[in-house]
Amino acid sequence: MLNSTNNIKIAKDFKLSEFACPCCNRVMLHPKLLAKLVELRNNLEIPVYVTSGYRCFEHNQKVGGVVNSYHCIGLAADIKVKDINLITLLEVCENIDFNGIGFYEKKNFLHLDVRPTRRARWRE
Ligand SMILES: [Zn+2]
Ligand SMILES: [Zn+2]
Repeated sequence: MLNSTNNIKIAKDFKLSEFACPCCNRVMLHPKLLAKLVELRNNLEIPVYVTSGYRCFEHNQKVGGVVNSYHCIGLAADIKVKDINLITLLEVCENIDFNGIGFYEKKNFLHLDVRPTRRARWRE
């Protein structure tokens, strides 16, 4: 795999490689998810780190993702933002109205997705 694979700027502050599956570099990304992450980044004015974007089936199994995870169809991203309280980050994300938001307090990250079905909220 060449280092430059997916090294494509897709928004001012995001590269496609940030969303690629870490095991195979394959990637799917829905434009609606990207648009909402751009909105989040613009609101925060500090970097948003994508800790897990697209996952191939094998990688999703490896990390213990749910079957039919939205990560596997490019509709979900897990994010971390430094120097911001997770509750504050959650409030900002609620205002952007991601359809799915998972709050992972211990691991200090949020799962965000643009699922086409009704809203979902959960905590771990
Ligand atoms: Zn993979
Ligand atoms: Zn997730």
